[in-house]
Amino acid sequence: MKSLLNEFQSDKSWSIFLDRDGVINSRYKDEIIDTPEKFKFIDGVKESIAYFSEVFKKIIIVTNQQGIGKGLFKEEDLEKIHAKMLAEIDHNGGRIDKVYYCPALKEKNSFYHKPMPGMALLAKKDFPEINFRKSVMVGDALSDMRFGKSMKMVTVLLRAPRKTVLNNHTLIDYAFKNLFEFKVFLEKQTIESQNSR
Ligand SMILES: [Mg+2]
Repeated sequence: MKSLLNEFQSDKSWSIFLDRDGVINSRYKDEIIDTPEKFKFIDGVKESIAYFSEVFKKIIIVTNQQGIGKGLFKEEDLEKIHAKMLAEIDHNGGRIDKVYYCPALKEKNSFYHKPMPGMALLAKKDFPEINFRKSVMVGDALSDMRFGKSMKMVTVLLRAPRKTVLNNHTLIDYAFKNLFEFKVFLEKQTIESQNSR
């Protein structure tokens, strides 16, 4: 495993970008999450985000939501889902600075559909203090890794088979089972770097 995150400082000079489906909430293949009731947090996510809130400058969600483009649900439905998500995160001591979503269909080749970098650039426009070289992208798909790498971020892949990780080592800097496992890694490293000062 590389040691890119050795440069990570818990002084809030770094930012974190999170994919949504498969990172924050569980989503089984082709499952349509169109109501707040269908949105289920993965175990450990809320406390991970509470920790990230202490150590990251900005916490941004970037999510492709093609279901809107397909006409399966509306932007109002997505906003209700996100309102519930943000309320629960807040209730557990965490924060999300902004959620960006791309409703376009993959076939439309939108500049805002990951792996294209549009949503990262929107975040930089809203929060000029974000430094992509001091940012982490966490996702469960290679398109998330491509999105992160195109902006020179450190990339973290979750839930991936070992073979995928080995075959894509230029795209993936770190791999963990879930967000909580990454949080534990980061916390441990932060403590170690403090002790070595
Ligand atoms: Mg995903």
